[in-house]
Amino acid sequence: MLGKIYLDYAATTPVDPRVLDVMQPYFSASFGNPSSVHRYGQIAEAAVESARETVASVLNCRPDEIVFTSCGSESDNLALRGAALAMREKNGANWIITSRAEHHAVSKTAEHLEKYYDFKVEWLDVDKHGMVTPEMVKKAVCDKTALVSVMYANNEIGTINPIQEIAEICRANGILFHTDAVQAAAYLPVDVNALGVDLMSLGGHKFYGPKGVGALYVRKGTALVPHLTGGAQENGLRAGTQNVPYIVGFAEALRLTHEEREQRAAHVKPLRDRIIGTVLEMIPDSKLTGHLESRLPNHASFVFKDVDGNLLLQLLDAAGFACSSGSACKTGNPEPSEVITSLGFSHDWALGSLRVTLGKDSAPEQVDSFLKVLPSLVDQARKLNQR
Ligand SMILES: *Cc1c(COP(=O)(O)O)cnc(C)c1O
Repeated sequence: MLGKIYLDYAATTPVDPRVLDVMQPYFSASFGNPSSVHRYGQIAEAAVESARETVASVLNCRPDEIVFTSCGSESDNLALRGAALAMREKNGANWIITSRAEHHAVSKTAEHLEKYYDFKVEWLDVDKHGMVTPEMVKKAVCDKTALVSVMYANNEIGTINPIQEIAEICRANGILFHTDAVQAAAYLPVDVNALGVDLMSLGGHKFYGPKGVGALYVRKGTALVPHLTGGAQENGLRAGTQNVPYIVGFAEALRLTHEEREQRAAHVKPLRDRIIGTVLEMIPDSKLTGHLESRLPNHASFVFKDVDGNLLLQLLDAAGFACSSGSACKTGNPEPSEVITSLGFSHDWALGSLRVTLGKDSAPEQVDSFLKVLPSLVDQARKLNQR
């Protein structure tokens, strides 16, 4: 397609044709409203409930613990805002603990709760690999803590957090634990009981499902205050007629991901390692960002000293390669990303970030041609930077 090579699967993935196939009927022939009593409604409702069962079986939970939402961001919003408000109502707890390396869907929601709802936020520093350790969480929790939110795997730097251990600490202290697994779900197991989480966010388009659909796992007995009020859909936690085709697609994409997880990881991991090895060897003043081992198998990310990351992305795009400098959201401001800054890099390093993420259809030849051009493009970006 366009002679372009896509290396930005952490930003989004294409919809798997097998997923598109199962979605199709629910746009037209089976278009009913799941809340309707008649046969059209029954068919749509059956599709949503069957999707819920599929998701529940992958997550190893009950179907009524799954809330379908419009995206990963909405799931994060519902988890944080919903749990914080409910916990405060229940026992007066008004502290939220989260990390400095979270996705904006979590960090901006925490800021919002602080600004408009009078919550207090404790921001955990991450270690130099962008990891939140169980010790950090242990030190921070107190009897005023309503909720802890720490992401499963980081979208910008690929670091995988020790979610199970963090969940144990929260459980021992009677504190709710939410994890943003939107980026993790494509490659890591999402068994909520093995992980021990109370709330977990997922988003369809990061694992070959459609954009605009997500899910939130809500452990039975966890009180949430809904933020989309209206009808009683989704257990009263998320009003609005369900997006039937997208929910069906979400479930099928998650099912396929679960089924093919090991195979996909085995495909991308050696390619990722080739990228990391070659970049660090061939490009002077380059560093890996994130953890070397506890890292998503499809994820390589770097900083280059004295390089304008956005300029490098433009040079790469002109050469036919689609990469990212961290989060996909382009703001047009030359400030380094908060995640990269949280790792302790100085300004001259932090502005030169590059994220290269692989997918199930990435070919070794694509990686080869990328690695062939990257060193000279970094060099070119450096020279332009000095002017
Ligand atoms: C992509 C992403 C989100 C946002 O998901 P959307 O479905 O795009 O709203 C949240 N958290 C992480 C870690 C992500 O990678």
